[in-house]
Amino acid sequence: MITSIDIDPPDRALVMVAHPDDAEFQAGATLAKWSRLGTEVHHLIITDGSKGTWNPDADTSELIETRKAEQRNAAAALGATGEVHFLGLVDGEVSVTPTEIAAVANVIRLVKPDVVIGHDPWKRYRLHPDHRRAGELCVEGIVAARDPHFFPEQLKDGLEPHRPSTLLLFEPDEANHVESVQEVDLAKRISALEAFASQLETTHFYKLDDGDPMQLFRERERQRLLDQGSLAGVELGEVFHVITDQL
Ligand SMILES: [Zn+2]
Repeated sequence: MITSIDIDPPDRALVMVAHPDDAEFQAGATLAKWSRLGTEVHHLIITDGSKGTWNPDADTSELIETRKAEQRNAAAALGATGEVHFLGLVDGEVSVTPTEIAAVANVIRLVKPDVVIGHDPWKRYRLHPDHRRAGELCVEGIVAARDPHFFPEQLKDGLEPHRPSTLLLFEPDEANHVESVQEVDLAKRISALEAFASQLETTHFYKLDDGDPMQLFRERERQRLLDQGSLAGVELGEVFHVITDQL
């Protein structure tokens, strides 16, 4: 049984993900809860989402703009009051070099989050390269952001080193924390996910057969939060690996 439940809602949170919709699928209800309680929630989307279609003839520059608009609408549906930042790396081709680490550190120094949420880079048997590398960028970006000798050129523009107090990793290899959420937060998570209209077929409705896909999708989302909440004995929840001792 997981006994770590609910950190104090932070003043500012930054959720850092590979693609539009990852934040909402993994932490949407937590982000909705915190927004409801006054947290300023910011998003950082690392890739441009340009591979998010099964249509080989799709206009990818149009898709990129569509997915940006969907992400902004989803953040609004969560009640997020922060900004949505886009790093714009090519979908499926994320690398972890000093250039990308500097870009992530720069956003952390700008937003100054108390809590960062991201992919768990240590999750075993994960196939998608962007999810692994977005997790690495998150961890490396945090380490760089807090130390004045990493990318000191950023500090000449008035930015300062910044040290978050908590890191929450979603889809954790080893779950050790649950954020409990309310029905209203689940509803906002589902509304936010429905904002990604271009992804319904390829992602939201994937492997849902026999029935109205939207209804099945909503039921599956509810079941996920029931299952994750039960790990800590709460009704509805989202599961994470929490790290505070190295920050
Ligand atoms: Zn993704």
